Amino acid sequence: MTTMVLTSTDEKCIYCDGDGYVQLLLGGSETCSCCQGTGRQTNEAK
Ligand SMILES: [Zn+2]
Repeated sequence: MTTMVLTSTDEKCIYCDGDGYVQLLLGGSETCSCCQGTGRQTNEAK
C-alpha cells in the first residue's frame, strides 16, 4: 500500500510548486495545466 503524503501543510501544486505556472525550457512561463494557475493541489477527477 502506498500512501501519498504531502510534506507541505499547504496543498501546493507539486507540479508548479505553488507558483501557478511552470518555466518553459524555451524560455518564459506557462500557466500550470495541473492547477490551472491556482498553485494549489486539486483533487478534481475531471
Ligand atoms: Zn500547478
